Order: sequence, then structure tokens, then C-alpha cells
Amino acid sequence: MPAHAHTWNSAHRLAVAGGSLLLAGALLHASPAHPSEPAHAPAHATAPETEAHAPATSAPTHATKDQAPAAELSGKTAPAVHGPLSLEQDAAQIALKVQAAMSLAKTRERAQAHVAAASQGKRPHATANSGHGQPSTDISAGTAHQAALQGHAEAHWSYTETGTGPDAWAQLKPEFGACAAGQRQSPVHIQEGSTLQGPAEPLVFDYQPSGGSVVNNGHTIQVDLEGNNTLTVRGSTYQLLQFHFHHPAEEKVDHKGFAMVAHLVHKNAEGQLAVVAVLIDPGAANDLVNKVWTHMPLDVKDRVRLPAALIDMKGLLPQDPRYYQFMGSLTTPPCTEGVLWMVMKQPMTVSREQLKLFSQLFPMNARPTQALNGRVVREAL
Ligand SMILES: [Zn+2]
Repeated sequence: MPAHAHTWNSAHRLAVAGGSLLLAGALLHASPAHPSEPAHAPAHATAPETEAHAPATSAPTHATKDQAPAAELSGKTAPAVHGPLSLEQDAAQIALKVQAAMSLAKTRERAQAHVAAASQGKRPHATANSGHGQPSTDISAGTAHQAALQGHAEAHWSYTETGTGPDAWAQLKPEFGACAAGQRQSPVHIQEGSTLQGPAEPLVFDYQPSGGSVVNNGHTIQVDLEGNNTLTVRGSTYQLLQFHFHHPAEEKVDHKGFAMVAHLVHKNAEGQLAVVAVLIDPGAANDLVNKVWTHMPLDVKDRVRLPAALIDMKGLLPQDPRYYQFMGSLTTPPCTEGVLWMVMKQPMTVSREQLKLFSQLFPMNARPTQALNGRVVREAL
């Protein structure tokens, strides 16, 4: 008990100190034990783990070992923390995280403003150093400011910044060409008047309580799952690699937007991707989201280990089995096409507090809807 209290006090102190937490995060990540930080691994044409930004499969194992000793400094909760806690304690922890997140966001804003001022006239993010992979220069991070600056340099595509936003993705790298040239891009605006009323083909979810880790990859909060979670559809079985969130939802249905969406990213043996989108409205709190938020990393590239069997994805699936189905793409660079999309019709809910925590870290991480270009959206009744 005292140990746990100490952890949170430390986290809070660091958060109040603002830059200190960033610095702590940077120093932790200077560890050479991260030879291949997964969050920005180069995308492969056939297995662009990322709708997703991340090769979920290789990530979790190595990440957790070297992070374990750092738990206290970075405000991570040790797995043991979760078991005996009451709901009130959970809520208190999350409240602390909100404060920490707000403090961090302000620090980042200041740092980014500084970077923007310093790099005026230069094309942002154009150097080889700014790209994917863990830059070795992390080790030199000596101040919170430098740490923040490097974090910024790695985020070489964005949702809102001039020059790196969705309209510019295709110009940032040749590999991102599909973001502009693709004809089957995601997300899309689904309009029921023009959907194809198809026969029911149930999505067969076989989800088991699983462990894994939560990563802040700079674009979203993502849970890389371990364990045997599968989706069978169209005669193929796909393994669930990871899920992550967008705020607001990227998809629209009959002109209605949603507060959030969870994307459940699956891959089959042939390397094809199937993403299930679960739309989310404000409402009752979601218990699974609570578990994820409790372990939410605050700093970019930070990764927090989840207790074994903590995540049961059934907690994020609506009762109503109906869904929309269409072919699309990753909604993040490199925008690779050939992704089978299923958007569940019935939204789930998260509480205002749960929504607020995410939106403080990611005020806007949704790509605009893309033209259908004649694609068929099938409605599975
Ligand atoms: Zn997504």
C-alpha cells in the first residue's frame, strides 16, 4: 500500500514540475535497450501494422522488461497496483493522470512553439533524422526542452499542423503517396441511402482475456495485445494485433459524427488487415477503457505493461452484431490500401471524464473522410 501511494505521489510531483517528467521520460528512453522502437517502424507494403503505426506483434515483449525499473519515475503503475484497488482509488489515479497530462500538454505546446519559431523558413521534418525508428540522439537529451524538441521532430506527420497535416501527408515521403493518389482510402462517410443491403454474415469474435502493453506513439494511445484473439469473417481468420483510439471518430454515418472511435486491427496469415471500428458516444463509463486509461503512458514513446489477462475485448463490442463493410486503407500514413473495414452500427459509450482524459492528450487525431469513388458499402443486417 505505501509503495503504491509513493508511486502516485512521485508521479504527481513530477507532473506538477512539468518539464521534469518529460526529462525523466527522455532519459528513460535513452536506454540503448530499445534497439527498434516499434512505434514508427518502417511500414511494409503487405503488413503495414499500422492503421496502427505499430508492429504490435514484436513490440510488447521487449518493451516491458526494460521499462519495469522505470515504473516509479515515469508514473507507471506496477501490475500489482491494479488488483486490490477500489473504484474510488482508480478514479483518484485517473484524476492524477489528467493533471499530469494537462501539465505535459502545456509543456509540449511551449516547446513546439519554440521549435516552430526556430525553424521558420525551413521545411519541417524533412531530414533523415526526423523519421522512423528511435534516433540514437535521444541519449543526448539533457534538458526537458531538448526532449520535447526531439519528440516533436519525430512526429513528422500530424493531424493539424501546417505542412504536415493530412493534406500534406503524401508529400512528406514517397512511401506516403497513396494518401493522395489512392482511390480506396479511409475513413469514409457512410450514408445508409446508398449502402448495399447484404445478407447477414456474422462477425465471429473469439476474444480471450489478454495482457499486453499500452503505448503513446505520439498519434494515439494504442494497446498492443498478446494472446489469442481472433476474428473470422469472409472465410478468413484474423488475429487481433492492437487497438487504438481516435478523437473525434474518423467515420461518419448519415452526417452524424461521434466523439471517439476504437479501431481494432486484425491481420490474417496472408498479412491482410481487417479493422473493426467501434464508434463511441459520450454516456456511461466503459470499464475496459478505464483499465486502459489507468495504464495510459503520458509521454510519447512511453510504454506501460498491462497485467496478464486484464483486457477482455468483449467489453468493447456492442451487443448489436450489425455492421457496415467496405474496402479501404490505413487512416494514417502510409495510407496503404487493401484493408477490410467493418464499422459496427451500434455505438458504445465512454464517460465525459474518460473522453476528457484522451482529448487532453490528443485534441484532434482524426483524418478527414475520403471519397468513396464508387466503392460499395455493404450493410450486413
Ligand atoms: Zn485508427
